[in-house]
Amino acid sequence: MSAVITDWETAPEPRVCTLEDYRGAEARWCPGCGDHAVLNAVQRLARDKQLPPEKTVVVSGIGCSSRFPHYMATYGFHGLHGRAFPVACGVRSRRPDLNIFVVTGDGDCCAIGTAHWIHAIRYNMKLAILLLDNNIYGLTKSQTSPTTRLGERSSTHPQGSFVAPLNPLSVTLGIANVSFVAQTVDWNPPHLYATIRAAHEHDGAAFVRVLQRCPHFTSHVFQEPQRDFGRLLLADHPDGIPIDPAVRSLFPNRIHHDPRDLPSARELAARDDVYPIGLLYRNRDALRYDQATSRGLGKTPAEKLAAVEETLERFTI
Ligand code: SF4
Repeated sequence: MSAVITDWETAPEPRVCTLEDYRGAEARWCPGCGDHAVLNAVQRLARDKQLPPEKTVVVSGIGCSSRFPHYMATYGFHGLHGRAFPVACGVRSRRPDLNIFVVTGDGDCCAIGTAHWIHAIRYNMKLAILLLDNNIYGLTKSQTSPTTRLGERSSTHPQGSFVAPLNPLSVTLGIANVSFVAQTVDWNPPHLYATIRAAHEHDGAAFVRVLQRCPHFTSHVFQEPQRDFGRLLLADHPDGIPIDPAVRSLFPNRIHHDPRDLPSARELAARDDVYPIGLLYRNRDALRYDQATSRGLGKTPAEKLAAVEETLERFTI
């Protein structure tokens, strides 16, 4: 008689994810589009942090940059225009275990999605929010967006935009309970990567505005700071975005800025003589709404039923 094998369960082999494990469909953005650089940075971050693809979600709205979830081999939600935030907040409410990235554009976030943007920042749920700001509606072929600069021509304003643009950094820094605001550029991969990494590691809603090149419609918009790094002002602080000294030395123009100082962050955000980059503000103590919405997630069905019955009891007349 053969012996009964009882010890047959084996632990799964430890898995090491490579970049290929995060690569989804081939990106169909224009050649030279800054969105490619952001996609590379997020895929590298996922690989470096070994984020399980099945525990990672990319949520977007509508626009060129919002095609992002298709190009990641993770879970994704390519949603409605301006509605990335409520979807992401809903996911976070019930799944504290997931890595969530929100990818939105200036038309998506700063126009139709404005109310959701404001309240997602105020609710401060743990989300890495990437605003890819190219100053134009690209997908629908060059309409003026909320961040289009004065005088810029577009298909809706052929004589040039005549309404002052909205500053996404200043708006975000004006929202109650804001906890993380940073700015970076798509054409400096190390700074871009370090900023997205800091956002992912932040325990709250981390808002990153990426100045993003759109060679198809706004190729001239960021030409100056691309050619001359002196036009960028690096917010420098031991508690800021950690970057390699060699990368730091690329930015001749630096300012000592304590990211806990909200009034200084607002002043820095409002400067229009330079492009401030780095960590403008971080408050690690801001209240997180997802810590309230995730209460009770570990309860068994019987415990949940008992809790519902107990609540209903209170309304029994
Ligand atoms: Fe990128 Fe602009 Fe092309 Fe859209 S239109 S894919 S933003 S370069």
